[in-house]
Amino acid sequence: MDDKMDDPQIIFSMPKAELHAHLNGSLSQTTIKKLMDLKTSHQCEDVFQLQTMFATLSEDHNKTLDECFQVFKVIHQLTDSEQSIYIATVDVIKEFSEENVLYLELRTTPRAIDGSFETYVNAVIRAIDDCRKENVPILVKLLLSIDRSKGFDTAKKIVDLTISLGHTRNDVVVGLDVSGNMADSDITDYFPLLFKIKDAGLKLTVHTAEVRNDAEAEAILRLKPDRIGHGTFISPSLTGSSHLIHLLKETNIPVELCLTSNKVCQTVPSFKDHHWKIFFDHGIPFSICVSNSNASARTVTAPILFDLK
Ligand SMILES: [Zn+2]
Repeated sequence: MDDKMDDPQIIFSMPKAELHAHLNGSLSQTTIKKLMDLKTSHQCEDVFQLQTMFATLSEDHNKTLDECFQVFKVIHQLTDSEQSIYIATVDVIKEFSEENVLYLELRTTPRAIDGSFETYVNAVIRAIDDCRKENVPILVKLLLSIDRSKGFDTAKKIVDLTISLGHTRNDVVVGLDVSGNMADSDITDYFPLLFKIKDAGLKLTVHTAEVRNDAEAEAILRLKPDRIGHGTFISPSLTGSSHLIHLLKETNIPVELCLTSNKVCQTVPSFKDHHWKIFFDHGIPFSICVSNSNASARTVTAPILFDLK
């Protein structure tokens, strides 16, 4: 490896594509401060409690996966209005652009604003449109995300909205992501909705095997989404079996690998033990992604640097 490749500035300025970035997981400290100030200006009573919780949770130490989900819950309370969602999206797009990300696929789980998922998504799309009008040098596409812990009825509304926007705003909305705590649900309950996305000609990516559940991982691989996220417990070094990695190789599904997120949320013990090398050796296509930079307190450049070392 060329020593120059260890230089963060070279990686920072290198043109990049980011395929696994959660909108609410990508807020910088500057944006979080801005959104807290917005809450203060609206005399929101719980802002001090939020500040304390976030200060504790955002300390730069390794977290359990549950603690990572706690960080997101706090941040979700900051993006709870049309205005805050718009500000968050513009900031995230511009900050990725400043790191020379040329293609950004943002994903976000719509939450009801004034009772409407559309209000949330329209604020995100308006921010993307405005960045285009400003000629921010980055191509941004959007995946709506269903949180598998929120139940089928909520997921169905988001799937229907995705299909609708996949027709009316196909210049922005490219498909669906399945996210959420894998311990909370059975993914196969959602398969009828995922088939609807595929039938509509939209793209599908699914968080898979972030925690160990071999039966679920196999079901997702056999569903053949366009990509999967993480794929940690597909690695034979963790499962003790080659079955899942052979299935992944056979299906040739590209994997979004999120190195710092996996390390900080402790689903892999160290970078040295990360499964990227095993996937590389098996010839499995993958992309290095950032996932949730505010849980890992890292930028998009960092995982690439770790990967090179
Ligand atoms: Zn993710």
